[in-house]
Amino acid sequence: MKAVRFHAHGGADVLRYEEAPDPELQAGEVLIRVRACALNHLDLWNRRGVVRVPLPHISGADVAGEVVDCSDKQLPAGRRVLLQPGLSCGRCEACLEGRDNECARYDVLGSQSDGGYAELVRVPIQNVVAIPDAIGFAEAAAFPLTFVTAWHMLVTRAKIRPGEDVLVLGAGSGVGQAAIQIAWLHGARVFATAGSDEKLARAREIGAYEVVNHHTQDVPAEIRRFTNNRGVDVVIEHVGEATWERSLKCLTRGGRLVTCGATTGHKASVDLRFLFSKQHTLMGSYMGTKAELLRAAQFFFAGQLRPVVDRTFPLAEAAAAQAYLERGEQFGKVILEP
Ligand SMILES: [Zn+2]
Repeated sequence: MKAVRFHAHGGADVLRYEEAPDPELQAGEVLIRVRACALNHLDLWNRRGVVRVPLPHISGADVAGEVVDCSDKQLPAGRRVLLQPGLSCGRCEACLEGRDNECARYDVLGSQSDGGYAELVRVPIQNVVAIPDAIGFAEAAAFPLTFVTAWHMLVTRAKIRPGEDVLVLGAGSGVGQAAIQIAWLHGARVFATAGSDEKLARAREIGAYEVVNHHTQDVPAEIRRFTNNRGVDVVIEHVGEATWERSLKCLTRGGRLVTCGATTGHKASVDLRFLFSKQHTLMGSYMGTKAELLRAAQFFFAGQLRPVVDRTFPLAEAAAAQAYLERGEQFGKVILEP
């Protein structure tokens, strides 16, 4: 098959579009013909060696495609599917309690295993989710990782309630656009930040009530203005060092901050006086469970959640697509099509 691989860690120039061996189907697995694969920052960490991966390596966590073959014939060839990006053992206490994203052997497709920057990929049968005919492959590939992540952050970790105020950072990011829609779906009043007026207008279109330009405006001051000095109940963080301090300032008394990433750096500090006196809760969140993805997918398939596709690139141009993601100009997901 054709695939995009890297044989050494480094910049986007290490990505090579080349011939690679077809995946060998194991018991309990499904072979998928990839029709679309969305990029994630995880792909950049893997390529740069921030996360060490087996070499040569094929990245790609977010896949939509068609079933080619199934080891136990449970799924017919040609079935249109999207893939759960989370891989877990299925036998440990966490997995059996449905907290598979807390599995000690948890992995993301395309991290320690080969992923979707290829014509073919193999996954365990429990990672396959059938998609309706009305859903396109690019849209389906844009859905899994960011929507399961944002769902876990808002619904399971923050336990969002109708009428609450939620601040979503980075509206144009994959997690940002998913979080705005999921918070809106749950009856929250959503505020969002982005770095350009064009992105802010898009954020309003998908559910943000008020928006703040984080380059030209003071985010905590604007949030105080929008909320009559109160602050928000929930902050959805994934930016890290560059925004952390301001994010904490946006929280109301008793507010919760949930973070799932550190794109701009991982060193952050907390002033304990404000943490205890304002009774803030800080929460980490990582991916989401398979059950949460199935739940979120019901709203996707019904048209109530709509993953935003920014643009698509041919698989052969994966290096250009990653460089585009690194520049951060996108609103929504960047997709590769074999
Ligand atoms: Zn497990």
